Order: sequence, then C-alpha cells, then structure tokens
Amino acid sequence: MTVALITHPACLAHDPGEWHPECPDRLRVVLRALEHEMFLPLLRETAPEATEDQLGRVHPPSYVAAILGISPAPGEHVSLDADTVMSHGSREAALRAAGGAMMGVDAVMQGWAHRAFVATRPPGHHAERHTPMGFCLFANAAIAARHAQAQWGLARVAVVDFDVHHGNGTQDIFAADPSLFYGSSHQYPCYPGTGAASETGVGNIVNATLAPGAGSGAFRAAWRERIIPALDAFAPDLLIVSAGFDAHKADPLAQLRVETEDFGWLTQELMTVADRHCGGRLVSVLEGGYDLEALAASAALHVRTLLLG
Ligand SMILES: [Zn+2]
Repeated sequence: MTVALITHPACLAHDPGEWHPECPDRLRVVLRALEHEMFLPLLRETAPEATEDQLGRVHPPSYVAAILGISPAPGEHVSLDADTVMSHGSREAALRAAGGAMMGVDAVMQGWAHRAFVATRPPGHHAERHTPMGFCLFANAAIAARHAQAQWGLARVAVVDFDVHHGNGTQDIFAADPSLFYGSSHQYPCYPGTGAASETGVGNIVNATLAPGAGSGAFRAAWRERIIPALDAFAPDLLIVSAGFDAHKADPLAQLRVETEDFGWLTQELMTVADRHCGGRLVSVLEGGYDLEALAASAALHVRTLLLG
C-alpha cells in the first residue's frame, strides 16, 4: 500500500521550554525511527501551512487571529495556560501541523496515497474551539475532518483517538454534529477530566474509559466491543486517527499498561474498518507519547502496519 509521511522541519522549532514533556525530541525520534530501510517506500511530503480560512472552519476567526498574533522573540516563551506554551517557532509549527493533517486528507482523496501518517507537533486533540489547552493550539484532526467535508464533499467523517488522554477538543467541536463521529479510549480519571462514558453528544460520541493500571486486555476490549461497533454503525466516508502513544506502559504522563504490539493490533483493526466503509482511506495524525523510546517503537510499528497491511 502507498503511504504518505507528511512532516516539516518547522515542527521541531516549536519549543515549549526546557523540561516540557512535549519536546522537539519527540518528533526527532519518530522521524529517526522512520529512516529505517523498511520505510523507504513511504512517500515523503512537506506539510504546508494551513490558511486562516481553513482554521476558521473549526476555530472562530478571533481565536485564530489571537493565536497567530502571539509572536515571542527567539528564546522567549508565552504561556497560554499551565501546560501550553508558545515560542518563536510555534506559530509556523502549529500552521504546518494543521496543514499537514489536511494534506493527509488530500493525499487519500486524490488517491496518490492509500493512507497517510502526519508526523507533526504541536498536537491538537485538546484544543477546543475557543481555547488552547494541553500542549495544543489548533485542533488538527478536527480541522482535517472539516476539510474533508468542505473540500471533498464527504458526508460522514470519523475521528478515533487512542491517545491516553481524552480528546476534549475534538469532542467539543463534534458533539452537536451528527455528520461527525468521535470515539476515544483513554485513562479515566485523568487529564483533562472529560470523557465520561455518559458524554455521548448527539449519539455520535463514544468514550471508552480505562481505569489506571489497565493493560492490553482492557484496551483491546474497549476498541473491539465499544468503539469499533459504533464506528461500523456510523459507516464513515473517511477515517482519521488521533494517534497518541502515551497509553504505553512506559509513558510517564499516565498509568495504563498498553504494550507496543497493541498499537500494531489496533492499527490493523482500524485499517480493516476503513477497508469496510471508505475504500481504505485512513489519515493518522500524531498526538501524544512522552517516553521517547516507547514513542519511537510504537509509532514505527503503527506506520509499518499502515505500509504492510
Ligand atoms: Zn496524551
């Protein structure tokens, strides 16, 4: 299968500060792992900058202008909340992270790739319409979903999210719109506090909660028994994946016990769903993952599965 790898060096220049877990080395180790010869078949593409109009499909223009107006000098930082920090390079990184996610959609819709992996940062799934949050500035996956509808006329778009944290931003953006589906497995209770099973939107939100300490069995059951059946019932025209690897047992930010191999298993399951409903069209967007070794191994297995499946 033809798989696009979409990234940009500007995403390495977003610097939330020394000791911040969402560090440039996260992306560095992922890209280094993808230099292995088994990844030579990847179609390597450069993420474009999102336009303000494209961001405006999800965020109010005043929010887009406010974020893009924050322009710290080199070496300076501006904190938007306790976790979310902008540096000199953040503006371009955020534009290319959102633009890369949309390019992934274009790749699978134009047909020059069957699947895409968007290796960018900052991540996006905590950014709400009006609020930056949890290391996230723009809601990259949701922006890609809206792009698929606006640019390509797709009726039904699903975002599924296996990051260990609940994607409160994606849920916030999707909850009232039955043309969009959001399904997430996440540790609960945990940051950001949302994602109870009772949060169901207009019947288009599925939150599968996992107790701290849950491992492979509970993780796979959440997908097999809760999220994938609902996703099948929704029957998306495109599947977007918020791919965070911080449910891994080695991750320092949460307490799940997911193994590297579980990410390969889930990737295969999601590819099968995409084959059933939408000609295999699947766009995966990097979210979290904070143990560098586990992140690199898990992301590499994810992309290898996308290539070989
Ligand atoms: Zn996370």
